Amino acid sequence: MSTIIELAGVRKTYRSGSVEFEALRGIDTSVRAGEYVAVIGPSGSGKSTLMNLLGCLDVPTEGCYVLAGDDTSSLDEAALAAIRNRRIGFVFQQFHLLASMTALRNVELPLVYAGVSRAERRDRAAAALAKVGLADRLDHRPGELSGGQQQRVAVARALVTEPALLLADEPTGNLDSRSTHDVLGLFDELHAAGRTIVLITHEPDVAARAERNLVIDDGLITEDRLTTGVGPR
Ligand code: ADP
Ligand code: MG
Repeated sequence: MSTIIELAGVRKTYRSGSVEFEALRGIDTSVRAGEYVAVIGPSGSGKSTLMNLLGCLDVPTEGCYVLAGDDTSSLDEAALAAIRNRRIGFVFQQFHLLASMTALRNVELPLVYAGVSRAERRDRAAAALAKVGLADRLDHRPGELSGGQQQRVAVARALVTEPALLLADEPTGNLDSRSTHDVLGLFDELHAAGRTIVLITHEPDVAARAERNLVIDDGLITEDRLTTGVGPR
């Protein structure tokens, strides 16, 4: 299987004034196409820093990140933005849907930025919403949907560009247990359909649903283990 993510000697140092803090202290790992990986670690361990690097929202201070064959360290901001739009689908804890727009319009947005025609946008967004079980909610605004449904809209928006990687940062962090169940079930389906998923969480129950766990502590990967992939339901 092909490699989607390759990290070699990745370090991230934050500087504020004369103070330096090394949030990632040498990360070496890779993720293959079709893997479902959870990155788990306590607060302050470097999870969001790693997510920002994987999502090309930030660049390493040292080391190398190759995403779907592209070495990101040599790219400028415009090229990184293009990679973010084409190769990565993001799902955040806070959903980040636009409240004034219908589910359909929210899901169409990445295609607007990608320059896709109006008719094709509509078809692809409707198909993505159907895939997440929301074919009957196209014209609802976020305020008219449950938390779990809103997160499913966000997943549809993340997938509508057919990205190489689905990157989710605490996607169930704002959901009640029923909606959590719902969204994790959707991730299971996406995994079964061959999607590559990296999910960031501090919750062991959520991490247990992925097939592989990368444990991060104090800026280092301390464990890389396969799970049974079932976890509590
Ligand atoms: P997590 O997501 O696991 O809680 P983060 O990646 O957000 O951890 O943070 C890792 C460490 O880096 C923390 O100690 C945090 O205080 C520090 N940190 C994060 N962002 C910055 C920043 N912009 N400037 C300075 N320190 C930062
Ligand atoms: Mg964080």
